[in-house]
Amino acid sequence: MKRFLFCSIIISGAVLARAGEPGADNASYKQLLSEISVAADVQAPETAIARDTAPGADEGRYWVTVRAADNHARTRLLEAGMDIVEINRDAVSGFASAYALQQLSSKASVVLSRVPVSQYAARVSKDFPVADAAYHNFKETTDLLKQMAAKNPDIASVFSIGKTTEGRDIWCLRINSGAKGETPSSKPGAFYLGNIHAREHLANEVPLLLAAYLLDHRNDADIKKYISTLDIYIVPMGNPDGAEFDIKTGSYQYYRKNMATNSDKSRGVDLNRNFDSWWCEAGASTYPGSDTYCGPKAFSEPESRVIRDFMLARKNLKTHISYHSYASEILYPWGGNDADVPNANDKQAFIKLAGEMGKLTGYQPLKSSDMYIATGDSCDWAYAATGVLAFTFELEGRNFYPGAAIIAGAVDRNIKAAIYLLSVTDNPYKVL
Ligand SMILES: [Zn+2]
Repeated sequence: MKRFLFCSIIISGAVLARAGEPGADNASYKQLLSEISVAADVQAPETAIARDTAPGADEGRYWVTVRAADNHARTRLLEAGMDIVEINRDAVSGFASAYALQQLSSKASVVLSRVPVSQYAARVSKDFPVADAAYHNFKETTDLLKQMAAKNPDIASVFSIGKTTEGRDIWCLRINSGAKGETPSSKPGAFYLGNIHAREHLANEVPLLLAAYLLDHRNDADIKKYISTLDIYIVPMGNPDGAEFDIKTGSYQYYRKNMATNSDKSRGVDLNRNFDSWWCEAGASTYPGSDTYCGPKAFSEPESRVIRDFMLARKNLKTHISYHSYASEILYPWGGNDADVPNANDKQAFIKLAGEMGKLTGYQPLKSSDMYIATGDSCDWAYAATGVLAFTFELEGRNFYPGAAIIAGAVDRNIKAAIYLLSVTDNPYKVL
């Protein structure tokens, strides 16, 4: 995630829909939304989480605030292994291992404060699982996708796009009135991907409920048209191993990466630093234990390879969103370079589309590298390698575990933006 506090936009008027009748089917959008709203009403007990039930998970990890005045200073902190979470005018905050802290002091960075992750977690987090039971874990997500496809066999299908490090399937729901499963289609394609960073669970909910919404509203005039003319792919959980690890003890682990075992026995590669776009040149760490570890080489990880191969095999893809949290931002390339994309039409299309989707969500549109430069980014790679117009959405929230009450409003706003993107997927340049 990337967070730009001093220009973030206040979001107001979150809508908590309370639709849903008893007996409605489990996979319908209305039913899912009503479950979320009910769950959000559950009183959260005082929290004390991530008190390290997984041995070693937060051992020697800190929440730190470090002085940094611009995107280049922030890039150097990423390279020292710091995982930047919040950006303020003169300083940033985020996670750092003991090793990263050592790197920071050897580079003369000014560390303004630091607290162990367990203390930070106890201070800011919401409860799990009672209060956050509305979030869908891997099995629930898988079951829902299969139910949605079973209920709409004429237009929807589910297939695995590949396996993770631990052997889980990465599931894709496809909506197409003609082609099913992996059968090619020449219709223009849109691809929505969620949750490649483990702890960003809201980034699973948004594409999952988008799928439910599109299928429930399949007879609305506009959506009916998109379903008959487009090829729509939705992969809500791109890093199921990490997402499961983050919740499996019942205490959030603030875990970001996949579940690779590294050469030094540390755990995980940052999937959003592992793509082959200026791989590991800036804003990423070569230290395996760090949260921004880029991996031993580009596409060293099964999850990033699966996403690469999926996109390369579908030349019809025109538009793409990868969902992350949290910052209320819509980012477009480049993230790995200060420059604008060289193609003037593409640049204008990025600005225009991000601006329109910004109006629908209340999120701020901007070029990704204006935050900091981070290479190996999935959307940079997707745009450069396939030409797809690729956006990173940093969803709303004030921390990684914003509670269930945030889901309904975030989903409502982001469905509008996702449908807007469908409306231009036939020819994204028609907006110019
Ligand atoms: Zn992220």
